Amino acid sequence: MCYTEAMNKTFSLKSFLEKYSNDEACLEEIFKIKYPKGAFCLKCNIISKFYKVTKRPVYQCVCGFNISPLAGTIFEKTTTPLQYWFYAMFLVSNTRSGVSAKTLQREIGVTYKTAWRMFRQIRILMAESGGGLLEGVVEVDETFVGGKAKNRKNEWRQGVEEKQKEILRGMVERGGKVYMKHIPNTGKWTLINQIKENISPDARIMTDEYMAYKKLPEYGYQHDFVTHSHNEYARGQIHTQNIENVWSHLKRGITGVYRIVSAKYLQSYADEFAFRYNHRKNQAQMFEILFDQIASTRALKT
Ligand SMILES: [Zn+2]
Repeated sequence: MCYTEAMNKTFSLKSFLEKYSNDEACLEEIFKIKYPKGAFCLKCNIISKFYKVTKRPVYQCVCGFNISPLAGTIFEKTTTPLQYWFYAMFLVSNTRSGVSAKTLQREIGVTYKTAWRMFRQIRILMAESGGGLLEGVVEVDETFVGGKAKNRKNEWRQGVEEKQKEILRGMVERGGKVYMKHIPNTGKWTLINQIKENISPDARIMTDEYMAYKKLPEYGYQHDFVTHSHNEYARGQIHTQNIENVWSHLKRGITGVYRIVSAKYLQSYADEFAFRYNHRKNQAQMFEILFDQIASTRALKT
């Protein structure tokens, strides 16, 4: 697999190794991101100067008060060197369609189990938190993941009959972000609640002809739809092509990189995909964006 091309355009491996040359340097960066205005000493009751304690991931105030920058982060209980973690984040943020745990295992030289766990934690950094409401024109659609359905019409029927198929709902703002939710069913209430939570009441929503969407105007939404069952895919500005592009990329990613994604991990995969999509215009800053999440994201209990 070739990572070199993507890396050259962004944050290079050379700059990465210079900046994060060892674990102390990585810890120092985590300290800075967690305490951008300096760390507060509970004993001295002021923002104090802290010094790194030798051989432990701990900082100490002159009064003897200790703080651990890793507490509450995805690195909290790790025995894997921080530099490996950072390199894993570097790989994840510098590839277009994702990295598998197998690749992480090979690139970092840890066990598959460790690579897989690291990957799970890193994905938490990619989960959209408080991204705000989607506005303007928003396309909404669902897709079934898993199975072999050839087209949507059949997917709907099979979705009812074959319980093993998982459903993702996507909401994409034209020219903006995508949100994706792994949903238990395509019922009206799940739909209405998700739309209220994620889409501005002033937005213009575009969908296909599925029944539940036809209720949207009752909830105050401006709604247009195309009738896929009549082979109508676009009527001027009315179409769902953006969300359909998202689906096809997402599915290609699943088959190409991960082979399969089980129901349990579908949401975390969708989060990873959405993270890449939502920061597609900041490819060069992807690592930093991911890094910035360290302070605000809690570790996953595994
Ligand atoms: Zn102190």
